[in-house]
Parts: sequence; C-alpha cells; structure tokens
Amino acid sequence: MLVLISGSIFSARSEESPPRPDISRKEIVSRFRGRVPRQWAENVSGVKTRLDTYRKVIALTLDACDSGDDGYDTGLIRYLVRERIPATLFICGRWIDKNPDIFKQLAANRLFEIENHGCRHKPSSVTGQSMYGIKGTANPGEVFDEIGKNGQKIRQLTGRQPKYYRSGTAYYDEVAVEIAGVMGYQVVGFSVLGDKGATYSASQVKAALLTAEPGSIVICHMNHPEKETAEGIIAAVPELKKRGFRFVRLSEYNLK
Ligand SMILES: [Zn+2]
Repeated sequence: MLVLISGSIFSARSEESPPRPDISRKEIVSRFRGRVPRQWAENVSGVKTRLDTYRKVIALTLDACDSGDDGYDTGLIRYLVRERIPATLFICGRWIDKNPDIFKQLAANRLFEIENHGCRHKPSSVTGQSMYGIKGTANPGEVFDEIGKNGQKIRQLTGRQPKYYRSGTAYYDEVAVEIAGVMGYQVVGFSVLGDKGATYSASQVKAALLTAEPGSIVICHMNHPEKETAEGIIAAVPELKKRGFRFVRLSEYNLK
C-alpha cells in the first residue's frame, strides 16, 4: 500500500529486496542467477535522480573516474572549499590508487562525502553490456566485486561505509541496481547533466546548472582539470545563490 500512496512503482522493487550489507558474493550469485534484465540506460528502475524536497537545494555530485587519462581538478575543489560549497564525491577505486594523498585530504574535509564509483569504473550490467566502448560487468558476481571491492577500500581508508553507488558511465540494467540495493547502496543518477563527461564548454556547463530546480542532483566531473567544468561551475554558482538556492550533500535528504 505504501508504494501506491507514494506513487512510486520503483520503490516496490527495493522493498522486495531489503538491504543486507553483509551479504556474500556466493549468495548474490545464487540469488540473481538466471535473472534477465529488460532495461539498459542511465535512469532504469530503482535509480534515484532527485532529492525528495521542494526546498531550493541542489546536490552537486562530482565523479572521479578511471578513464586512462585522469587528473585532479585542484581549481574546482579549491573553489568549493573557499566558498564552503558541499559536494558528494563519487570516487573510483583506480582513481584512489593513483591519488592516495589527495583522496585522504578530500576524505578529511567535512564539506565532502565520499561515495562509491566502482572499483574498475565499469558500466553496471549482469550480461556484459558495453557503454561508450567500456565493457560492463558480465554477471552478478562481477557486479558484487565492482561495488564491494571499492566499498571496502573506501571503508578501510576513511572508516566510513559509503551508502551511494554510481557506476562507471552511469549506465545500469535494473538487475544490477537491485544487487546494489541488496548490498546496502542507493544507486544515484542525476537530474541535471552538468558537464556531459567533462566535454561541455564553460558556457554549456553554466547553462546546464542554471536549469537546476529544487531537489536537483547535478552530475559533473573532478578528474578533468584540462576541461572547462570548473569554469562553468564557478560561473553558475553565484547566479544560483542569487536565485535562492543552496548546495547540500546527498545524505542531507531522502532521495527519490
Ligand atoms: Zn566516471
């Protein structure tokens, strides 16, 4: 009944599979064996795309990916720190391995919360679907490894268990999203495509951010300092503040 009242058909699925953060790989493999996904997209059943509020708040989420040529956008992070703008950072395991000292600094800054962007930056599939030329996880066991290994890494380094997951490329099938849910994660998409994988010009980033509405989740990237993401964010923030918006971390609201 709750499901009907809330009007969300998608919450039914997660209620069928209560979180079990201690679940083993073996249990995941046996429970999800033979499940055939029907969806493959960024916004499949179960993916959260907004904060559940009408308040004028925006969640800025920044991905730190592993795509081979990744850096660290010092200028962007310095700006957020200087302006006291909180953000949720989705960090990939390989990026952590390449930038251990920076990771520690980010994790120690209470403005930021560190979340799970996968161990090897894989699209989240139970059948090996590819996206943007990156081969996804091939089966439920690989989904478990991709999420679980990076979760463990983050927990060991920060003492805190991440609670949100965004896959490499942000693509999923709905079975993989369900697996993440059983593992104790909410899967987080976005409602504002802020920098299109760090390919937007500064003016495109600014224009995208200015479409934000109360409760929007914005996705941008912090691993391409050579691109114009930071410039666009820095241009948009004062205008958004003027419009009465403030920035929050994902964990400050329920997601929907
Ligand atoms: Zn990424």
